[in-house]
This record gives sequence, structure tokens and C-alpha cells, in this order.
Amino acid sequence: MNSFFKFDERIEAASAKALETAKTQFEKIEDIAEYNQQKVISAFIKHGVSESHFVPTTGYGYGDRGRETLDKIWADVFGAEDALVRHNFTCGTHTLATALFGVLRPGDKMLCVTGTPYDTIHNVIGIKGSEMGSLKDFGVAYDEIPLKDGRLYYDAIEAAVDESVTMVYIQRSRGYELRPSLVISEIEKLVKIAKAKNPNVIVMVDNCYGEFVEKLEPTNVGADLIAGSLIKNAGGGIATTGGYIAGRHDLVEKCAYRLTTPGLGKEVGATLGMNRELYMGLFYAPHTVGEALKSAIYIAALFGGFGYKTTPAFDAERGDIVQSLGLENPESLVAFCQGIQSGSPIDSFVSPEPWDMPGYESQVVMAAGAFTMGSSIELSADAPIREPYYAWIQGGLTFHSAKLCAMLAAQKMLERGLLDV
Ligand SMILES: *Cc1c(COP(=O)(O)O)cnc(C)c1O
Repeated sequence: MNSFFKFDERIEAASAKALETAKTQFEKIEDIAEYNQQKVISAFIKHGVSESHFVPTTGYGYGDRGRETLDKIWADVFGAEDALVRHNFTCGTHTLATALFGVLRPGDKMLCVTGTPYDTIHNVIGIKGSEMGSLKDFGVAYDEIPLKDGRLYYDAIEAAVDESVTMVYIQRSRGYELRPSLVISEIEKLVKIAKAKNPNVIVMVDNCYGEFVEKLEPTNVGADLIAGSLIKNAGGGIATTGGYIAGRHDLVEKCAYRLTTPGLGKEVGATLGMNRELYMGLFYAPHTVGEALKSAIYIAALFGGFGYKTTPAFDAERGDIVQSLGLENPESLVAFCQGIQSGSPIDSFVSPEPWDMPGYESQVVMAAGAFTMGSSIELSADAPIREPYYAWIQGGLTFHSAKLCAMLAAQKMLERGLLDV
């Protein structure tokens, strides 16, 4: 209790109950975060990181020790042979596209086994017609296997992975769907099935939102290539832009040839002083992901306690940091997002309203008050205003700040007569 924020005592009581409910889950998160923190530190120690690794380079960036060492540390942390960590990957989509174009060739076939992938990847693949410059445009074939009851359809995958399939593509996170995220044990099983059918197949994982959620990463269990964004989990809330690719050495090299140019690959790329924040982001990432997971679990426990549908449930096994809440009607979605926004460190004075976002079929309401624009390791919520009226929530740099936002969201809903307490 303090004088900074005033809550209805029913919200206070519900929050205390949610914390009690979440206790066992929090202990599991602490265990994973500590394991991953030690994994990261041991890689820093092994490679003898010092201030000299943060020295900015300019021009070609030849011999940038910080850049070269960060790649090695990243590879060790992710159980991979090699990595490509760069501030000049503009976003997750760009990073994933670099990896796809890096390793696929005309006549190859990509098979996505987690249903239709994340929206922004559609144009990369050329799913809708032949988008200019898409993989399809370059003669790469694409097919997908739907999920079965929200989980990998192993039998159909086994039947489909033959000699014609060059790459099996997995999206670990649920994205904006109500399916569960993939856990590492499922990815491991899938790798075994795919490689048994075609030993040459490349298994690639869109690892966005998945880094450090479990003790192992897809590359620890046989995935050949993974990629993700640094303004999500792996940047620890510190990196202000960038992406990473990790995996088999020959594949990462091809990705580097795509990012820069054949022949130059990883040898060039001035870091301009960005190294420090990428190192510091990786250092923080296990802890920050733990905070984001605790935030998601608390929100699930709190709003589950109010009677709302939560996916995943507070005690479900998690493969990513995304939490969704079925808030049942447009008014609740708007009140929820406004409450979240009101407790944000940045732009707390802004009141989100639904708007017609380009590329969306319905209006969308969003809350985001982040230090890094668009960062979703920082607490953010967005909700399309349509059935089944779900809000998608992710991030939380510190558990206590995310908890405050969730309580303010509940309070806002209560004030508008939308909450049954
Ligand atoms: C965020 C994300 C991406 C990439 O999105 P960007 O906004 O370009 O960073 C791709 N796949 C998944 C599952 C994601 O969550």
C-alpha cells in the first residue's frame, strides 16, 4: 500500500490471490532464468569480454573484435556452430527473410509445418500471388501443413517430408493465434521425424518470442537454423534494434553472404558503437524474459480469477512470452488497453482508441509505452476489435511495472462496470 496509485480493494484482493496462485509457476521461471543467466555469463567469461569489445568501428568495419566475439558468444549460448548478430537487421521479418533467401535456391521447396506463418512472412514467401521479390518470384516452392488440434500434425509431416523438401520451417511462437506455442520437446521430436525421412533437410525455426523461455533452444535439439528479433526476447530490452541468426556454420555463412555480399560475408559491417548494447542486452535477456513470463502468468492468474478465458492458462507449459485474454466485448478491450497504457513509463498520457490499421480487416486497439519504438519485450497489448474479442499481451521489462499496468487495466474495467468482481 502506498499513495502513488489508488486501487479498489477488490482489485487489491484479487491481485494478492493471483500472486498466491502463480507462486509455483514463478519458482519454475526463477529456476530457468538462473540457468540461462549462468549459461550467458559462462560464455562471456569463456570469450574474455572487455571494454575493448565495445569500441566503435566505422567504414568497412574490418576486424571488429566486438562483432566477431559477439557472434561466437551467441553461438555458444544457443548451442550452435555459428551466429550472425547485427544491429543492421531492421526487424525480425528482415532477419527471417535474410535467412530464407540465404539458404534457399531456385527449385528448392520450403515446407511450413506450423500452419500458415506469421503475417509479415507471407510477402517474403509469396503466399498471396507472386509478390515482387518474394521466394516464389525466385522459383522457390512453398507448401504448408496445418496444425492438428493446435499441435504439430506429426503423421502428415512424416508423410510430406520427402526428397523434394529442402527446408522444414517451424514457427515456435503462437503469433496472433490461439494455438499453444511449441515447446522444445516438440521441436526435438519434429527434427527427428523430418531428418529420418530426409537427412539433408534443413530445419529452420522462427524463434521470435521463444528465446530463454526454456533451458534449451531449438539449436540444442537439432534445428539447423534459427532467427529472431533483438527488440524481443534476445535483446533483453536493452538492444534498440537488430536481429540474429544462429545455426550450422555453412548455413550461417550463406546468410552472411546474403546480408552483405558473396565473398565479404561476416568480414564487414561497422558497428558504430552498437556493440555495448547488444552485449548488455544478451546479458540481461534471461532475466528480462523471466520478468516477461512472470508478467504473463500473473495477468493470466488475475484475469482468469475474474472469469475470463486465458490462453495459455497461468499454469500451462510455455514456449513463448505471449499471453492472450478473452475479454468478451469491444468495450472491455478498449478499457483494458487504456489501463495498460496509463501505467506505462512512456506516453502514459495517451489514451488508445481503436483505429483502421493498414493490412488488418478489423479495427485494432493497441497499448504500448516503450523506451524502444515497437519493442514487444516491453509490455504491450493489442486487440483486433472482432470476435472472439481477445487481447494479445507480451513483455514486461520488470514484473512490478507490468503488474501495476495489469492492475490499472482491471481498475479501468471495474470503473466502467465491465468487471465482475
Ligand atoms: C515478431 C515476429 C516476427 C517478426 O516480426 P517483426 O515485427 O518484423 O520483428 C516473425 N514471427 C513471429 C512469430 C513474431 O512474433
